[in-house]
Amino acid sequence: MKSIIRKRTYQAIYRLLDRVSPLPGDCGLLCGAACCSEPADLTGDEKLTGEYGSETEMGIYLLPGEEKLFTRKENWLHWTVEDAEDFDFPDSWHGKIYFVRCSCAPHCPREMRPLQCRFFPLAPHFTADGRLVLIRSDLELPYVCPLIRDRMELTPSFIKATYTVWTHLIRDPLIFDLVVYDSSFREDGDADVVYPYF
Ligand code: SF4
Ligand code: SF4
Repeated sequence: MKSIIRKRTYQAIYRLLDRVSPLPGDCGLLCGAACCSEPADLTGDEKLTGEYGSETEMGIYLLPGEEKLFTRKENWLHWTVEDAEDFDFPDSWHGKIYFVRCSCAPHCPREMRPLQCRFFPLAPHFTADGRLVLIRSDLELPYVCPLIRDRMELTPSFIKATYTVWTHLIRDPLIFDLVVYDSSFREDGDADVVYPYF
């Protein structure tokens, strides 16, 4: 799919997010890196669960254009290329979409983690009056993330960097549509807003 986000912009986003993490320490120590051992359906259940690979396999989908950062020969990633129309994506999404599964989890090259991995457990949401907020992910997951279960306080640097990144990403019409689409399944009152509060 054609993205207006350039490779160098994605690279800058990766560098920005390299400097932050949800907790001051390694949150994987809380849960045995649950979201790595069960490679996460990080942003949409029907997008992946049961439709990607086998019924038990799940993976991370790349945002439009994010694949430009990879050679597809990385030995720590298993790639699948699918048609967006076959999955639970906005109507404006046509053509190829790239799914990856981490084959050496959790020992991946951290500077190359896909965006959907870096954002977790936050997700973007548009409020009914069109404002972008970050919420705790409300996906049904095959594991328990303590950051969500215990509503743990996340580092301000992680929250702010993630929000900044999403303000840039939604300039891409396809990504904007994705956030609109995912938000349409939530009532504002159900969204556990983390940032910003208005
Ligand atoms: S994001 Fe949640 S599930 Fe993943 S490693 Fe951190 S605490 Fe565990
Ligand atoms: S990219 Fe790395 S941190 Fe993210 S799910 Fe895969 S193995 Fe875990």
